[in-house]
Amino acid sequence: MAQTSIRQNLLQIQERIANAANRTGRRIEDITLIGVSKTHPAITIQEAFQAGVRHFGENRVQEWEVKRVGTNNLAATWHLIGHLQGNKAAKAAKLFHCVDSVDDFALAQKLDRARAEASVPAKLRVLIEVRVAKEETKSGVEIAALPQLAEEIATLPHLELAGLMCIPPYLLEAEQVRPYFRRLRELREELQTKRGLPLPVLSMGMSHDFEVAIEEGATEVRVGTALFGTRAMK
Ligand SMILES: *Cc1c(COP(=O)(O)O)cnc(C)c1O
Repeated sequence: MAQTSIRQNLLQIQERIANAANRTGRRIEDITLIGVSKTHPAITIQEAFQAGVRHFGENRVQEWEVKRVGTNNLAATWHLIGHLQGNKAAKAAKLFHCVDSVDDFALAQKLDRARAEASVPAKLRVLIEVRVAKEETKSGVEIAALPQLAEEIATLPHLELAGLMCIPPYLLEAEQVRPYFRRLRELREELQTKRGLPLPVLSMGMSHDFEVAIEEGATEVRVGTALFGTRAMK
């Protein structure tokens, strides 16, 4: 995709973010755009960076391992947003600033150990991915198991548990997704008040529903298609 259209897409997304924030009296500074660059080449990431994107989301450790060579000089924050297998945890802890899709304690422990060994001074930021829609066979921790997992992860010294993430079912009308976003916000509030866990981050909302997510409290929206155009099927 040409650089000008990434720039134009970004302007439109920023405007939509601002409008959604205004509707609910939120500040735009409190909402971070994560450009989801999976399947797109390093050169496209560079273009988006030049246009002003500072956070990027990738969903595969191996894909990012190859692509990062072409983006090494960019002062961006790199998020892993896809499901992570235990055998890739060590690599992920070294290659990303944030792993936004943690859904079990064994995985968190692996990330914690790997981060310690990687001699990266900063903690690895993690989010817990919550399965907000039971009927879907997607990754994410069950709601009933969330409080215990959050308390366990919060004890790990090299991880910073910053909040929650969800991938709700894809529903034609973005408005239909609202209850899932609301549920994630309520879960965050419960963990804050009942367990005293500070969880400032809510990562929710994609190209098709990020405005609704912002209205429900999203602090990070993960936008791929609306920024970079349609992905080739993989
Ligand atoms: C691909 C992906 C996105 C972006 O989806 P779009 O609909 O292209 O904006 C967001 N979050 C996750 C976890 C993804 O895998």
